[in-house]
Amino acid sequence: MPRILIVEDEPAIAELVALNLRHSGYETQCVGSSADAERVVRSALPDLVVLDWMLPGESGVALARRWRADTRTRNLPIVMLTARSQESDLVQGLDAGADDYLAKPFGNAELLARIRAVLRRKAPESTDVTVQVGRLALDPTTMRVAAGGVPVHLGPTEFRLLRFLLSHPERVHTRAQLLDRVWGDHVFIEERTVDVHIKRLREALAPVDCAAMIETVRGAGYRLARPAAEAAAAVVPVPVAASVPRSSAAPAA
Ligand code: CA
Repeated sequence: MPRILIVEDEPAIAELVALNLRHSGYETQCVGSSADAERVVRSALPDLVVLDWMLPGESGVALARRWRADTRTRNLPIVMLTARSQESDLVQGLDAGADDYLAKPFGNAELLARIRAVLRRKAPESTDVTVQVGRLALDPTTMRVAAGGVPVHLGPTEFRLLRFLLSHPERVHTRAQLLDRVWGDHVFIEERTVDVHIKRLREALAPVDCAAMIETVRGAGYRLARPAAEAAAAVVPVPVAASVPRSSAAPAA
């Protein structure tokens, strides 16, 4: 269940938003100030934050800007709420780092659609979309993993870990980032825990010859690599004469 933090000082709005989100299968937590939001995020990263612009004390815009400046929260998905709807405010909100923007009053369906779109874009591991890299496919709705049709049996933690890695292939994740995004806790769990579950994941993937896809990046963390053949196909060869801007180049055949 994706976890959504609602930062809103008007209790009626906060409760309505929380109720609707829970109805749609999200786990919610409500706080009424930037300071409380900061406390929650410091202990565990939510999957997404619904952030009100006008808050007592530090504003939502200032908070978003601060989160964007911090490596740990840089990619935290944020949907900003505001009572104002002027163009200049919208630009300011998006400049501060909001991924999307919704002016009050807003409909529940619209909020849900925005949240889904932002999650799909920024945190695909928290959506119900089947993810596939190479032969390895994971279906979150049936909780099944298979490699070229051969089932792979994983424990719940390895499943979540693989789901996150498959959703962000080729990127290097530090142990702290994996704890944040897979375990939801980077404070109280030892980083060694990640190594233990990576080892188990590789063991589970070995019978289907996919263990090597989980790479250790020395001094950095872990990465799920595309199989070599697929990686080569993904590289679009640049024509020799292509000193023209990319946008005007013909699409690859
Ligand atoms: Ca407010």
